[in-house]
Amino acid sequence: MTAQYDDSNIFAKILRGEIPSHRVYEDDHTIAFMDVMPQAPGHLLVVPKTPSRNLLDADPAILAKTIQVVQKMARAAKEAFEADGITIIQFNEPAAGQTVYHLHFHVIPRHEGQMLKP
Ligand code: 5GP
Repeated sequence: MTAQYDDSNIFAKILRGEIPSHRVYEDDHTIAFMDVMPQAPGHLLVVPKTPSRNLLDADPAILAKTIQVVQKMARAAKEAFEADGITIIQFNEPAAGQTVYHLHFHVIPRHEGQMLKP
């Protein structure tokens, strides 16, 4: 059984303005901010304002709005960082690599021949 959403997670604190972030986008449903430990230059995170732990418990309507912002951020990051490509990553539960338990998508600009930082 999937654990319940817990609003003490770091992205909930960022959404509430309790800790700082470098925000690059905000609308009524979504924010995007730079990852504090980027795996490549321009690595950012897209986060819905509505609480859900991950993709598995997300409201499909919120998910649809979030993925539209993922596309918008991917296009913007590709141009801003003159990237050759964009990697989108999204983890669900610890076994899959999730470490922050508020739904988020990684948007990572990529350049030919450059590996992601671990
Ligand atoms: P995941 O849960 O998908 O494995 O990754 C969570 C991501 O959040 C990591 O890439 C990590 O660097 C990022 N992160 C963790 N804490 C903070 C924080 O306080 N601020 C920001 N901007 N990113 C964070």
